[in-house]
Amino acid sequence: MTAEGRPDHCSFCGKDKAAVQKLIVSDSVAICDVCVNLCQDILKDEPVEQTFQTDKLDPVAIKQFLDQHVIGQDRAKTVLSVAIVNHYKRLVRQPTDVELAKANILVLGPTGSGKTLLARTVARYLDVPFVIADATSITEAGYVGDDVESLISRLYTCSGNDVARTQRGIVFVDEIDKIARKSESVSITRDVSGEGVQQALLKMVEGTVVRIPAGGGRKHPAGEMIEIDTTNILFIAGGAFVGLDQIISNRMYGSAIGFSSPIASKDQTDLGQTTPDDLMRFGMIPEFVGRFPNVVHLDALTHQDLRRILTDVKHNYVEQYQWLFRQDEIDLKVAPEALDAIVDLAQANKTGARGLQSVMEQVLMPHMFNLRRYRTADVKELLVTQELVNNPRKLDT
Ligand code: ADP
Repeated sequence: MTAEGRPDHCSFCGKDKAAVQKLIVSDSVAICDVCVNLCQDILKDEPVEQTFQTDKLDPVAIKQFLDQHVIGQDRAKTVLSVAIVNHYKRLVRQPTDVELAKANILVLGPTGSGKTLLARTVARYLDVPFVIADATSITEAGYVGDDVESLISRLYTCSGNDVARTQRGIVFVDEIDKIARKSESVSITRDVSGEGVQQALLKMVEGTVVRIPAGGGRKHPAGEMIEIDTTNILFIAGGAFVGLDQIISNRMYGSAIGFSSPIASKDQTDLGQTTPDDLMRFGMIPEFVGRFPNVVHLDALTHQDLRRILTDVKHNYVEQYQWLFRQDEIDLKVAPEALDAIVDLAQANKTGARGLQSVMEQVLMPHMFNLRRYRTADVKELLVTQELVNNPRKLDT
């Protein structure tokens, strides 16, 4: 104790004030800099277990959240919200009186229609870790081995190294249609690679224990492995399934094009009429189809939808570019006809909403390159007109 009656040594390690760099002193206790650092390490290593917020399990609330970020796709949002709630109800309440099978979700829809966005937004709403895997990259590796482990490892990192959180995460497997078996017939000539990958994925989807490196720390020294059970991880698989509409149409209206084919238009076919059998004909193996009983389908986005994505949705593209321009004190304005022209060009690209950003980049790039010069020349505003969209300025190089 000092003459004033305050501690003169660390209450944790007992070191004297003179033996440490800093001693933080209160009226009755003290702590030295070494012990403060040690405490910090402990807190970093052992993240506080975040419990799942069950009050979020309301399909209406999920749909409302999705509405803020995803334009259109109303039916898909509703089906998805219910499927998500059922999955997490099962996981949180763990029923003993009834056995509920895990129902993963298959999302069908054209490229750039919001499949990944929907899955990501749901994960954000529920505050669960989320990773995207590409089914085709698993094909390239040939076998499940490292790929699955690195995928689960990414989920673990994303969860803040929390095993419980990892085990209730969401994995979005993109391009699932690309691993379809090429031929429907089960014969020696079948495409084995696609089927092999489906089998490999199935193992993880059905539930397996994956061993991954724990990541060095006090709790898990370097080299130590931990086990993650994938049983309750939700898998959302997405794909464009090009050609599936033809399979549905053939089933509904017959494949013959002639006087015997019904008048009912093949154009009426949509992916919403997909049956498990259609998916198997497409090349998905029966076990895979069985594991993805929730089939959600997305429509191609309309002109109006794309326009709303440009200007209405939260953090929309126009807002994003306006922010960038504002950093150079220039007000970016986009004329209504210019918005239509951007949408027309994006639609011609056939990449859905993804095309919007590339068109905007193309139009704005030469100006973003020159923003500092505009500022020096006291330019206060850039108005994007229809003319500017259709004839963008050449990029100065
Ligand atoms: P995919 O259907 O190919 O998975 P994504 O969800 O990755 O498409 O969409 C690509 C980008 O396009 C998204 O990041 C988002 O900015 C935009 N986008 C696509 N669909 C929508 C939508 N329905 N509402 C709002 N933005 C969308």
